[in-house]
Amino acid sequence: MKCDIRQLNVRLAQAQPSATYRIMDRVAARRADGAQIISLCAGEPDFDTPAHVRQAGIEAIQNGHTRYTQVAGVRGLREAVAAKFRNENGLDVSWQDTIICNGGKHVIYNALAATLNEGDEVIIPAPYWVSYPEMVELCGGTAKILACTSDDQFKLSPAALNAAINDNTRWLILNSPSNPTGAVYSKDELKALAQVLLARPRVLVLADDIYEHLLFDGQVFNTLAQVEPKLAPRVLTMNGVSKAYAMTGWRIGFATGPRWLLEAMEKLQGQQTSGASAISQQAAIAALTGSQNFILQSRAAFEKRRDLVVAHLNDTPGLECMSPSGAFYAFASCAGLLGRTTPAGTLLETDENVALALLEEANVAVVHGSAFGLAPYLRIAYALDDDSLLKACEAIRQFCLSLK
Ligand code: PLP
Repeated sequence: MKCDIRQLNVRLAQAQPSATYRIMDRVAARRADGAQIISLCAGEPDFDTPAHVRQAGIEAIQNGHTRYTQVAGVRGLREAVAAKFRNENGLDVSWQDTIICNGGKHVIYNALAATLNEGDEVIIPAPYWVSYPEMVELCGGTAKILACTSDDQFKLSPAALNAAINDNTRWLILNSPSNPTGAVYSKDELKALAQVLLARPRVLVLADDIYEHLLFDGQVFNTLAQVEPKLAPRVLTMNGVSKAYAMTGWRIGFATGPRWLLEAMEKLQGQQTSGASAISQQAAIAALTGSQNFILQSRAAFEKRRDLVVAHLNDTPGLECMSPSGAFYAFASCAGLLGRTTPAGTLLETDENVALALLEEANVAVVHGSAFGLAPYLRIAYALDDDSLLKACEAIRQFCLSLK
């Protein structure tokens, strides 16, 4: 019998490598050849983790927090997380209603893996974070993508949700502020979605609040379980320290939700990672319970950068960009560039053509909208210092002006 030693799990074999990583690989290759590329692809703050949090990590090592912890996380961090959900989100939870995982992404993966069965559908509004559909498919579910256009300000309407929801729907994923559009759901918009969900008792909701603190123009953050407490028994409210405290490398994410779901996730985690890093958990306690000045400072910096980038993009022929309300991404339509030709002779037929030509001919890396489920757009991450952002915006403008 012939056997193929390299045979993979069928679901993994079908999964797509992230388009973001493809662009990053090309950036790395061009840089290795000596090109000066400004990358606007990064999904992480460019700031250092706050000093007191780094210090807490060092002390954690010195004080012997170097062993396995409880699978669902150490009590101190679970208490800090519960206090965060109570104080910032008005959720009535205690530490037993929380779980700590290896990053926000891991929370989502655990939740999907713990609950999805064949035939289950997961509603994902597009544009979406690239990992959602892939995680759903890897966990054996079916991603049901609902396009939300700029006419809807890239947000899911109750009517669209109602039309898409059916007996197979297991989850709805809501991400606010959104990666890649920066769109934010208001309290009223969440209430209207909740009305649809209340009539569908089998549907769970993932509220991905990872960009909660990157919210601009003095807006107040709202999350579904708070806005509609009757839904709370079916909402997994997920968050983490990655974006709020510039701690992407520490890999700490957390959630609150119904205990049966948290217990299932813990069971899975117990056979998988055994829990998050003991050192990072101590640092996360310092982040959540120490000074919150960092959040105010980084929010102010990102808001200023947003204004700078959006103004430049809207001053560039062929690009059009709504001002995002949160996160650190601008999602600009490049419809006005399609059909044009670059100085090197490339015909721009798709947003991916535009992103690649920008990289090759203008030395600026951005990710095309089709990678996030909506074309023709460019996602511009403004997690970079003002000077580099200005240079990148000017290079994009000159590129657009040079098209024939
Ligand atoms: N959710 C969204 C929308 C994100 O953009 C990201 C990271 O880019 C995550 C979740 C995951 O964050 P973490 O680094 O905590 O895994």
